[in-house]
Amino acid sequence: MITIFDKEGDVRQAVIDSRQSGHTVGLVPTMGGLHDGHLSLVRAACQAHEFVIVSIYVNPTQFSESEDWDRYPRQLDIDKKLLESCGDNIALFVPDTLYRPHHATMIAPQGVALPFEGVHRPHFFTGVATVVFRLFQAVPADIAYFGEKDFQQLAVIKQMVNDFDLPITISSVPTMRADDGLALSSRNHYLDLSARYQAAMIYKAMTSCAEQIRDGHDITTSCEAAQNMLQEAGFSQIDYFSWCDPDTFEIVSQIQGDSRLLVAAWLDGTRLIDNECYEKLCGAQK
Ligand code: AMP
Repeated sequence: MITIFDKEGDVRQAVIDSRQSGHTVGLVPTMGGLHDGHLSLVRAACQAHEFVIVSIYVNPTQFSESEDWDRYPRQLDIDKKLLESCGDNIALFVPDTLYRPHHATMIAPQGVALPFEGVHRPHFFTGVATVVFRLFQAVPADIAYFGEKDFQQLAVIKQMVNDFDLPITISSVPTMRADDGLALSSRNHYLDLSARYQAAMIYKAMTSCAEQIRDGHDITTSCEAAQNMLQEAGFSQIDYFSWCDPDTFEIVSQIQGDSRLLVAAWLDGTRLIDNECYEKLCGAQK
């Protein structure tokens, strides 16, 4: 049976005790609705550490009022079973809240938090940075694991850890995809069968864009053609479909192997995001 902590003080003490006995501790922050993408982070942590804390908390401060906080997938019993299959050195941290009554202090990241998601979801990275900061206080682990699936979020967390000199290391794990290329995401639960089928077009459009650039087409034309593919597949709105520098998140005019294609697009009322580097997209088989 997996141990479940719901009190910040209890999980912190368990982590401190484990580290004092010479073990290292990994932390995998999640919002639940676990899938194989999350489990790839958990497995990486289980291989590296004697003790792994997986947190599940649907953080209200990173959702705006019009977003999906209230319908976000919550399935603790299923999540528990999935985690039990990953290892026997895992404990869950499922707090009711990570905020004190009348909490009034937020961390508002700048720099890499400003473009892309920062433009389209202006509240988002403030909520993320604040809750991750609180989580690092509750779970003083050696290493925290984040997915490349949320590539800008990963950069925002690294920026915060560096800026505040937080005593934790950030480790990243590549995006896990379904057989048709769609990045696994808890929000894929929202898609009905036909939308789920259309959603695979995101990765196809990304691959096609990279291949056009490889074949000598310019970046703008290649991005436009790829966005047309999405529109024809039924995507209603494309928030962004752009190549950027993976460190600064500035738009690039020359593509390198590590240039990152970032995409956010709406399908059937669901906002899907994806990203990948040029090198990987050109070698992609899907
Ligand atoms: P979430 O529960 O969506 O907040 O995600 C928790 C963590 O899992 C984040 O670090 C995500 O980047 C990561 N993650 C989500 N989906 C995937 C995926 N398909 N592959 C790898 N990591 C993922």
